[in-house]
Order: sequence, then C-alpha cells, then structure tokens
Amino acid sequence: MPFKHPIFKKSNQEIELIRSTHMPSEITADSTVRWDLTSIYSGIDDPQIDLDIADFTERAQLFNSNFRGKLADGLGPAISAYSELDMLGGKIMVYLSLRQSLDVTNEAVKSKVAEAQQSMSQVQGEYLTFFELELVALDDAVLEKWYASDEVVRRHQPWIEQTRVFRPHFLSEPVEAALTKRAPFGPGSWDEFFDECEADLRFDHRGEQKNLTEMLDILGNSKDAALRAEVQKTVNDGLGGYFAKYSAQTLYVIVGKGAVERKERHYRNPMDARNKENRIPDEVVDALHNAVKNVAGPLARRYYRLKAELLGMKTLKWSDRNAPLPFTDTTIVPFDNAMATVLDAYESFSPTLTGIIRDFNSAKQIDVPATAGKRGGAFNCSFVLPGNRPQSFTFLNYLGSNHDVMTLAHELGHGVHGILAGEAQGPLMFHPPIAYCETASVFGEMTTFSFLKKQLATKGDSAALLALLTQKIEGMLNTVVRQIGFSNFERRMHGMNADYTEWNDPKKLSVEELDELWIATAKELYGEDGEVFTYENTSHLWSYVSHFHRPFYVYGYAFGELLTQSLYAQQTRLGSRFEPLYLDLLRSGATKSVFDLLSPFGLNPTDETFWGEGIRVSLETMIAEAEELAAAH
Ligand SMILES: [Zn+2]
Repeated sequence: MPFKHPIFKKSNQEIELIRSTHMPSEITADSTVRWDLTSIYSGIDDPQIDLDIADFTERAQLFNSNFRGKLADGLGPAISAYSELDMLGGKIMVYLSLRQSLDVTNEAVKSKVAEAQQSMSQVQGEYLTFFELELVALDDAVLEKWYASDEVVRRHQPWIEQTRVFRPHFLSEPVEAALTKRAPFGPGSWDEFFDECEADLRFDHRGEQKNLTEMLDILGNSKDAALRAEVQKTVNDGLGGYFAKYSAQTLYVIVGKGAVERKERHYRNPMDARNKENRIPDEVVDALHNAVKNVAGPLARRYYRLKAELLGMKTLKWSDRNAPLPFTDTTIVPFDNAMATVLDAYESFSPTLTGIIRDFNSAKQIDVPATAGKRGGAFNCSFVLPGNRPQSFTFLNYLGSNHDVMTLAHELGHGVHGILAGEAQGPLMFHPPIAYCETASVFGEMTTFSFLKKQLATKGDSAALLALLTQKIEGMLNTVVRQIGFSNFERRMHGMNADYTEWNDPKKLSVEELDELWIATAKELYGEDGEVFTYENTSHLWSYVSHFHRPFYVYGYAFGELLTQSLYAQQTRLGSRFEPLYLDLLRSGATKSVFDLLSPFGLNPTDETFWGEGIRVSLETMIAEAEELAAAH
C-alpha cells in the first residue's frame, strides 16, 4: 500500500521509562534545537497541501485509467508511476504526522489530519486497489519477460516477489477496495483514540492528580521503595475501573477482526500474516520465543537477584523492577554533550554514518526539548520525498538522563538506516520489515554503550561502570524478555493453547480472565510468586499496552535486538571487513530476507542455537561482568 510509512516508535517498555515532563532548569538552553519542517510545507495552512492532495487524486485516476486491466503490458511504467504516487502521498501524510507530534491536542491539526486521511484512503481504495491484485495475478512467464527486458522491473524484483507472497490471501477487488476505504473507521483507528483516553487518565497520588507518564516516572526514578509500591497500587487500581473494561473490549474487537479476516484470507494461523510480512518462517519465530523462555528467562531471574542484593532486598516487588540503583548516575547531560558523545561513538566505528548524522544537524531535522503539547517518547521517521530525496526526522523529549543519551543514539541509528536504504532502494523498497528495522538503532546504541564503557574503564570508575552496565542489561531485558512476555500474552489472547503448540478459535475474555493471563505469562519468564518478584498490584497492566492493537508487532523488538547483538559480536572476528558489510546490510532496506541479510556475516537464524547464542554473547556476558563489579564494589 502506498504512503504507509510507519514511524519507528520506541517500544512500549521504553515508553514506560520516559522521564516526566517537568523540565530541569539546567537544560532550558536545549529548547532552541528544533526541527524545521518548512522544507516540506510552510505550515498546516500551506495551500500546497490541498494542491498536492488534488494532484495525488488526479495522478491516481490517471494511473487507474492507464494500467487497470493492462498491467501485463505496462508493468515498468506502472511501477515508476506508482513510486511517484508513493512519494507524493508520503510527503503529505508524513508532514501531517510530524506536525501533529509537536502539538497532539491542536484541534486544527487533528481535523486536517483526519480530513487528509479520509480523502487519501478514498482515492487509494477507489483507484489503486487493482494494482497489487493484478500484480500478484500476473503469469510467471510475463514477469520473467519483464525482468529480462526492463531495468525498473528488474530492480524492483524483491518488492514484486514479496507482494506475490500474499497472492493466496487477497480478496476480490471490490472487497479490498471497500476495506481500504473503511480503514479510517476500522479497528485500526482505535489506536489513536486509545492514546487520547490514556492521556486523559488521572491518578490520585497523595492529594495530587497525576497522569500515567508521571506515575510511571516515579516507578522508574524514585529511590523510595515504599513510595514506588504505593504508586504501583494506585496505578493498578486506577486502570482497573472503566479503563480495563474499555481496553478488554478494544482487544476483543481486534482479536475478532483478526480471526474473521484470517479465515477469509486463508492464513494458517493468526501470526501467519505478520510473519510473512517480516519474511520469517513460523519455526524461526517459535525458536525465538523458546530461546527467550529457556535461556533469557533464567538470566533475567539471575540479574534481578543481583539487583535485589544491590537494593538490599530479599525479594523484589514488581514496582522495584525498573527502580534506580543506589549508585545510578543522575547528572543531567546537556544535549550538546550528548550529541558530541554519540558522534564520537559513531565516528569510532564508521565515519560514513557520522557524516549522515552531521547532515541531520545542519538540516535541522532533530526536535529535542520536552515541551508541553508534544507527544511522549521518541521516534525517527524516514521517508523518500518526490524527486527520490530520502529524508529523516528525529523526534525526542530530551531531558538529559543517560537513558536519553542512549535514546538519541538509537533514533539516529534509524535515521542513518533510512538515508542509506532510501538512497539505494527508493520509496518502495527502503523500509525494512518490523523484525529487522531495529538493526541500526540497536547497533547505534551498542556502539555508544561500548564507547562509554571503554572510557569509564580507562578512568577506572567502577561505580559508574556498574551503573552503565546495569542500565544496559535492564534495557535489554525489557526489550527481549518483557516483549516476549507481551507476545506470549498476545498469542494466548488470539487463541494459542497454554503449551504454545496449537491455535484454537479465540474467545471473548473478561477483564478477570485477561488479568489471570497477564500474571501467568509474566511468571513463565520472571518466576513464581516470591521466587524473585511478588506480583501484587500488577494484574491490570496489560490494559495500557497499545502495541496489542497492532497484532504480533512486539516480538519484532526481541527479534531485532538479538539479531543485532549476534551481528555486533561479529565485529571482533571480522575486523576491518565488518564496516562495509554492515553498511551494505543497511543499504539493502527491504530487499532481502533475514537469511540473505545475515549470510555475509556467517550467521544463520534458523534454529534455537542462534538465538541462544545471541543471548549468551550479550546478556549473559554483561550480567557476569555486573556480578563481578558488584562483588568488588
Ligand atoms: Zn527503534
């Protein structure tokens, strides 16, 4: 589908750790670092937006009359015209979405976005639906001829083949067209509405009304265990009322929609579509889940036992899981210093990547401060503008914690990935699937982490080193173990049995049933009650995980993290041969399967050993190092 440019959102767990919105005075100077969107449109009232929508409509009509029913004779020109449509549609929708991120409650912006979404879906449904349907229906012989004779078609072979994977799953054109036109009013639209409801949540905390972000901020930052436990109870109780009921109903709509469509489209199981989109066989996805349960689960318990010791506790409450350690460094890092650190770290690995980041700075494509009205969290949005010009915008709520420095390294990783792949592959093939779109971001974080670690080791600052290590370990546990816990909850909700061996038809689950499932799937990874954690006041936490509205999205985080850790570990072995191979990997965008992507590095993700190894080279090594430092501390 054109103009679907998913923004790389930080994972839920990372959003959970966002610092609160009150800005320390030391870093007010950073508020001057804002992005400049005027290279796209001058503002929300720019008449060019409507002119572009009209142009898009006209071109889509023309595309329809030129190629509908005639694709076999015009495939090359059709792909070129379709790319142009994609870039123009992307320009409009990406601008509006970036603009909205700065000011989420602005009614004028909201209504402009809704208006544009509706007209674009209408045009897409009416005039463009035929294209993919005819593309997947083309005879192999016809395609072969095009591959042999036309450069544009030949270049787009990976994209064509990937679209044709879905051949058995398309419905008839009128049905597909109707579904596309109805999309802005379908279950997908709940996601945005859910964000608004979540933003409206208020919790009564010691006589003050606080929002969810502020409450989670206390959990992640307060050194007072009793206060954290109290906040945990207030949050869980607060989610328990209408919000959990509303959330259960939302999940019912999402699961039910999925179940009906899956049958109509003849997918094998509820995850089939997502796995195909990710180009990952079901067995590989299962192997990942198993390795996390069998290898990472025990490591998580081992780490949290160390954490309990460092906090001077016997067992941990769930509210202690993300608590700061006594030696956690709370110095505020000014944004300029953070940027300098990240640039130095990238420079130590690849000057090519540093050059791209410098361009983001000079082109004003990074929005830094946490100002009122901005959407929470951080993201990067890369896309290809008309004229085949790749662009990349990075959105932050920078407050100066060490976590924020890593977030900067992460989002800039997405940015360099977007630019390299955009230049090499163009609009239709630059965007890697969810399962490996986190490669460059995780890699950028690892590069920055290792750079800082080396600095601290040279200084002999073991307390700071332990703080850095534990922060990294906890981040990894949240990306790998927690997200697979989410994925297990989700798989069960969509009908998988308790052994994760077969799929049944999903049932409508009550709040109480979802609560039970949530705790059960947490225990599978974090241990029985009292083994490491106690689980009081956690039963309703599923209700605010908005990623469940995009089914089977979350396992991609664990997949990407471990894949990248395995890749990162190859640096030592490959020496100077590594960087060019890695840049080629980034440039390949969406054109390769995960096997082709990793084979130049001598890696093969087909079995559980690969995943187990990925966990050992990263997580286990770091935990052992932290244990050693803690013992000497
Ligand atoms: Zn990311």
